[in-house]
Amino acid sequence: MVEMINSSKEAIELEERYGAHNYHPLPVVLTKGEGVYVWDVEGKRYYDFLSAYSAVNQGHCHPRIISALIDQAKELTLTSRAFYNDKLGIAEKYICDTFGYQKALFMNSGAEANETAIKLARKWGYRRKGIKENKAVIVVAQRNFHGRTTTIISASTDSAARKDFGPFMPGFDIINYDDLTALEKALSNPDVCGLWIEPIQGEAGVYVPQQGYLKAAEKLCRKHNVLLMMDEIQTGLARTGKMLACDHENVRPDLLILGKALSGGTMPVSCVLADDVIMLLLKPGEHGSTFGGNPLAAAVCIESLQVIKDENLAENAHKLGVVLRERLQKLAEKTNLISKVRGKGLLNAIVINDTPESETAWNLCLGFAKEGLLAKPTHGNIIRLAPPLVITEEQIHECADIIEKCILDLKK
Ligand code: PLP
Repeated sequence: MVEMINSSKEAIELEERYGAHNYHPLPVVLTKGEGVYVWDVEGKRYYDFLSAYSAVNQGHCHPRIISALIDQAKELTLTSRAFYNDKLGIAEKYICDTFGYQKALFMNSGAEANETAIKLARKWGYRRKGIKENKAVIVVAQRNFHGRTTTIISASTDSAARKDFGPFMPGFDIINYDDLTALEKALSNPDVCGLWIEPIQGEAGVYVPQQGYLKAAEKLCRKHNVLLMMDEIQTGLARTGKMLACDHENVRPDLLILGKALSGGTMPVSCVLADDVIMLLLKPGEHGSTFGGNPLAAAVCIESLQVIKDENLAENAHKLGVVLRERLQKLAEKTNLISKVRGKGLLNAIVINDTPESETAWNLCLGFAKEGLLAKPTHGNIIRLAPPLVITEEQIHECADIIEKCILDLKK
């Protein structure tokens, strides 16, 4: 049996003393979650406006997902891929049918799915495009966030993510996001095998590219025989008001990379989807993971996706995103503390009119928490607002009231 924590203070002290200090959490200790709400150990209830970085799109502890998890956990959880299991094939078919691909490869974390996509793109570059050995280049965007492995941070432009972690992996060409001129130039390099981008840059602070950028990027990839590798780990699964953010522009990536809400926040499940010409390049022994494609993940993934469809979460995200942005826009007109409101569906951000080094956004988030809403700054002065997609219109207004009160109070 696990020992009980009696107070937030005790839990924070334990983590500080025994845990690595690789995060800077808000001083709130959570013990329970249900739908859009989480509770701290003192029993205070909060709206969750981060949704574990969009991993709990379906809401905390969704009863159907938890049931699927428990039912499968009682039968079989892990076999490794040394043997077949009776759930993986069903999940592979389900996810391929859902997104319109011929093959799926399950991994665990988002970073691992991105690593998988990098290997696939490189192999395709050598075997199909005829790039000379070890010369393959992947084009990436400034401000990208794709995870924390040493290869992935080699493509990053965030000094905090990179400093003291070199040497870095070669083979990435970094260009400006949302810049088609730079993109055309980069893709014309014959050694380029992939363009690896997020359809909206979430971690960077919810940067939404201009309308048409994704479609034009897709066309440029076709023109230059380059694979479009779309990291939809944060933007996918209904978050932006469509099943995929790419769907807003009718874009079909060659490599679709998913994670986070694939399990409704219950366990790490990620996946890469592609057609046979790409996926079948991988042969036994060339890639894998002990936990990737385990039957527990397979059962949970199917239920998590089915909940998104059954509860029309994409439609809800679209509709309530409009409501939330309208409220925030009106608020921005009343105060000079907000310099920008941006986002799509229920992936939104307010940019606080202060330097990234300032404490203003952090203090605002402390104020939100006091009033019962949890959000966290990214890059100092940007506050991402991303509630579970099961939120109702009434709740969105209640949350907008909290945000408004805190911002107007801070101004006084
Ligand atoms: N890609 C994107 C777009 C993300 O937002 C994240 C996490 O925030 C990742 C990849 C990494 O996922 P994970 O933390 O599961 O490795």
